[in-house]
Amino acid sequence: MIERSLTALSRALAAREISSVELTRLYLERIARHNPALNAFITVDPEQSLAQAGTADAQRAAGAGGPLCGIPLAQKDIFCSKGWLTTCASRMLANFVSPYDAGVIERCNGAGAVIVGKTNMDEFAMGSSSETSHFGAVRNPWDTSRVPGGSSGGSAAAVAARLAPAATGTDTGGSIRQPAALCNLTGIKPTYGVVSRYGMIAYASSLDQGGPMAHSAEDCALLLNTMAGFDARDSTSLERDAEDYGRELSAAAGAKPLAGLKIGLPKEFFGSAEKSGCSAEVMRLVETAIEEYRKLGAQTVDISLPNMHLSVPAYYVIASAEASSNLSRFDGVRYGYRAPQYADLNDMYAKSRAQGFGAEVKRRILIGTYVLSHGYYDAYYLQAQRIRRLIANDFIAAFKQCDVIMGPTSPSSAFRIGEKVSDPVQMYLSDIYTIAVNLAGLPGMSIPSGFAADLPVGLQLIGDYFAEARLLNAAHRYQQASDWHLRCPAGFA
Ligand code: GLN
Repeated sequence: MIERSLTALSRALAAREISSVELTRLYLERIARHNPALNAFITVDPEQSLAQAGTADAQRAAGAGGPLCGIPLAQKDIFCSKGWLTTCASRMLANFVSPYDAGVIERCNGAGAVIVGKTNMDEFAMGSSSETSHFGAVRNPWDTSRVPGGSSGGSAAAVAARLAPAATGTDTGGSIRQPAALCNLTGIKPTYGVVSRYGMIAYASSLDQGGPMAHSAEDCALLLNTMAGFDARDSTSLERDAEDYGRELSAAAGAKPLAGLKIGLPKEFFGSAEKSGCSAEVMRLVETAIEEYRKLGAQTVDISLPNMHLSVPAYYVIASAEASSNLSRFDGVRYGYRAPQYADLNDMYAKSRAQGFGAEVKRRILIGTYVLSHGYYDAYYLQAQRIRRLIANDFIAAFKQCDVIMGPTSPSSAFRIGEKVSDPVQMYLSDIYTIAVNLAGLPGMSIPSGFAADLPVGLQLIGDYFAEARLLNAAHRYQQASDWHLRCPAGFA
């Protein structure tokens, strides 16, 4: 069962080949066996999971239930889930049992999916390695001395190790795509506004976007169909007609299924190794994958994103500014951590925040408060917003010349645990290829495209606004012609 795609599992459930309770048990057993080595989950609650599975089985027996009915899903612990501990991997929320469901959880549960557990992550989604979690670092199933990427590293490790068939993630600057790349998964960050942020604990609201992480584009399309949709409770949710994100996947296709597709190759992504900071081995695999796209009928064109080099600095100003504002709500008063001892109200706030937040979160709050402060606002925050517009304009111009932009997802394969923790700037550069996509609000995805010294490497696909179906199709056609995405880490088959 564990090697099956979501579509195949869904078929097995519909055919009564297996029940949701049996399938959920199977994954719960795998979690019990493998999670101690990976630390991919913060919370597992078999009783709640199996109750949900029982309901799904009853629904199926009554002839109801869509494709996700009875499918176990790992949910990133950033999504508020009623009755579940929802910690965002922070000490601040280590005791927080959510009284309500996030929009995404509501949609998944509404479709009959089962929460198989809540996944570990970087604290408040700030990081690229899943090492900043209050609950300890997540390990990469491809090499447990290495990071799975972040911030959705628990979701990535869980799916890669077959502890769940698919998972949710969130991506503010690369947190779906980079862990997908480092763990050999397919992940898509949709256009900003497509997936509801209601109940998704806010890091940088203008950049945060939820999305699916799974083995294939086909599975991602299936999950995105459930996750996406208008939500009046999120003021940035887009009111659009529902789409079938997998609509292009089933079309019959010959040997050149991507004939007519124009792939843009930004010179800023493919410059010299020193300039782009990309490992030569990653670059070679990315170029090989692009060659495969040419064989599938696609054409490539050289393009330029001239302001690309400004994306990391602009992002860290904007994301930190928004984080400092969003995280001001954690004051120890109504919920979350409160220091056990304090002198007065102010001291209670100060001590609760000092003890409740980890070092990286504090760093962001300090930077954010600084760049928003009187006298520095114009020089930093406003300037970063101007750069953001320039970057979005670069993409808009580029999409006049091509349909999809391709490049590496991450400049390196999985690095060692501890290797970058003491050097935040090095850590920030892990997202050098992904961050601009969030600044522009575009959809982006990562797909498995080979191995460098036995570690997975991802190819990034960036689309124009609302081009998710096209991206998924471009990924799907590559996956029909390759088997990288089906590889399973040793010891987890
Ligand atoms: N690594 C980036 C950061 O630390 C992006 C994280 C994310 O996408 N949530 O902000």
